[in-house]
Amino acid sequence: MSPLIASDLDRTLIYSAAALALTGPDAEAPRLLCVEVYEHSPLSYLTEDAAALLDDLARRTPFVPATTRTPEQYRRVRLPGPPPRFAVCANGGHLLVDGESDPDWRARVRARLTECAPLQEVRARILRHADPAWLRKERVADDLFVYLVVDRAVLPETWVKELADWAGPRGWNVSLQGRKIYAVPRPLTKSAAVAEAADRAGADGFWAAGDSLLDADLLHAAERGWRPAHGELADSGWNPPHVRAVPERGVAAGEAILRAIGTALGHLPPPHD
Ligand SMILES: [Mg+2]
Repeated sequence: MSPLIASDLDRTLIYSAAALALTGPDAEAPRLLCVEVYEHSPLSYLTEDAAALLDDLARRTPFVPATTRTPEQYRRVRLPGPPPRFAVCANGGHLLVDGESDPDWRARVRARLTECAPLQEVRARILRHADPAWLRKERVADDLFVYLVVDRAVLPETWVKELADWAGPRGWNVSLQGRKIYAVPRPLTKSAAVAEAADRAGADGFWAAGDSLLDADLLHAAERGWRPAHGELADSGWNPPHVRAVPERGVAAGEAILRAIGTALGHLPPPHD
């Protein structure tokens, strides 16, 4: 029996134009497949080769997208391959089963949120300290967590760390990803939801990929993990022995991770040096 494969989406498998990090001559750039349209404009991409790898992977083994996106934001992403039976959204707040949020899972997660400071307290602190000079948007996702869209050029360097230092003892994690700052209650984890999916799928444990601090618990709980050379985990030098860092950055990393997983599963021949 094979393990279930769980992967973060944004900046692990799919990339906005700003996050592609293409290098080399334009004429040799990989062809890209757009997998998300937002307000009639293309938003997220993977390479065509990554699309073929993901299609093949998802046909052979249970593949579970595990994202901090809300279900609504997730449903815009049209991944290659068959529709995933399970998907984790809102950082574990929702377990989608055949596209529908599982009510039992939702209730179980919400019952655990009493273990940390209430959303309103965290949100109030954030709004008190945010500055319109750099704050572009403030949103509450599904009544579960808060995220901000910020202007990174103007955001004071210490702001995120100060919020993290305040939020940590109150049971909340803070993550900075591109233009977004997330504050997420600690009981809300991708790992718990993926473990539930693995259980229901009858899989033999799970392997995982991710790039940000919000993926650390998922990678930590996985038997094997992969991360790109960019992102918060790379920047913080987080290198547990069972997690392999691919050398690629940007959209090329997504392809490299899918190739590495396919090789580890024995679907692809080992690379020759
Ligand atoms: Mg990510």
